[in-house]
Amino acid sequence: MNKKYFDVITLYPKAFDSLNNMGVISRSIKKDLIKINLHDLRLYGEGNYRQVDDEPYGGGSGMVLKPEPIYKAHESIRKMKKSITLLMTPQGKVLKQEDFSRWLNYGQLILLCGQYEGFDERVRPLADEEISIGDYILSGGELPAITVINGLTRLIPGTLGDPRSLEDESHNSPLLVYPQYTRPPVFRDMKVPDVLLGGNHKEIKSWRKNQMIKRTSSRRNDLIIQEGFKKAPVSKRINEELKKNMKFRIGNGYDIHRLEEGRDLIIGGIKLNHPKNLGLDGHSDADVLSHSIMDALLGALSLGDIGKYFPPTDPKWKDADSLNLLSKVVELISNRGWRINNIDSVLIAERPKFKPYIDNMKENISNIIKIEKELIGIKATTNERLGPEGREEGISCHSVVLLEQE
Ligand code: SAH
Repeated sequence: MNKKYFDVITLYPKAFDSLNNMGVISRSIKKDLIKINLHDLRLYGEGNYRQVDDEPYGGGSGMVLKPEPIYKAHESIRKMKKSITLLMTPQGKVLKQEDFSRWLNYGQLILLCGQYEGFDERVRPLADEEISIGDYILSGGELPAITVINGLTRLIPGTLGDPRSLEDESHNSPLLVYPQYTRPPVFRDMKVPDVLLGGNHKEIKSWRKNQMIKRTSSRRNDLIIQEGFKKAPVSKRINEELKKNMKFRIGNGYDIHRLEEGRDLIIGGIKLNHPKNLGLDGHSDADVLSHSIMDALLGALSLGDIGKYFPPTDPKWKDADSLNLLSKVVELISNRGWRINNIDSVLIAERPKFKPYIDNMKENISNIIKIEKELIGIKATTNERLGPEGREEGISCHSVVLLEQE
């Protein structure tokens, strides 16, 4: 492969000294695989003071690089046949490993480094590509240019001791690389996985592939989502991992209890008065609101429903205060490492009027599940005299919850 030329236009050529002390890169310079030409922008500045910057039109803080010196510097560079100009800017396309492989096809890369508040907009047409090294702002384009030079140079054949080390890297394939270990086998109680010590290459290969999938889905599932993984042979395993690593789960709960004479009407831990002196029938206090919230919580984690945890056949739960049951379910959820994000419930009843009591119900639920009242929605609606709720045969409640992994 022919020598690769980097021509850098910068106000701070000295910033590139570090490249001479970077193992692989300095070796490539010595071996004449790359050549870095630094073009000091100051030398192309205007007037006695070699001015390169000026105040922004329209006002605003800081200084902006003028276009003339940058054009002059760019024009002074002898262009090779396969030459590309890259402008370092946080507004550019975010640098990816695949860009380095693509630029390997060029014999010359001209890198433009900004400073201060950036450059005059009219500099942009000089660039074939605008490159950002990440969503943050640095004081100048020198570190980004060094990043480009470094990342590209190590891909040039002859730069790395063992070219195979390029193959297994994160970002080479869309998956992050597997965990690596070296001697000793045990360090401060941290052990190297047995499979790596075993020497069975087939097992090692499959372990590594699995680790790559696990790692990527837990740390960077954005990479998996970006890539065309749907068709990939590993997509089923990847999807399973993604589901396991899902940070949110949604749950849905429903409950209805019959209205009877001689029973209390308790909703959200509040005792209400029904105009016909009816109350809700059930084994416990029949609090439909608390019950539907419990079912939603259990459902979110696929843990079944309240019947499984507090069976009506068990005398222990006779006339139980449902808020107590709710606190047990909340404990179960929290022990599994989940936090309640918010709850939304709707009560369906013709009478009595719930409105005056809703705030107190929220307060009760909020005390039990320990999230702010504002994150609890309780609404009430009639059923327009239709169905069991409309005929006042019963009161029902629907709830939805969102859980977040802690
Ligand atoms: N005000 C400008 C940022 C100026 S930072 C804006 O908001 O776009 C000064 C110079 O540093 C830029 O011109 C650019 O050359 C360089 N720079 C800063 N952060 C960078 C990044 N994340 N990627 C590439 N270049 C960057």
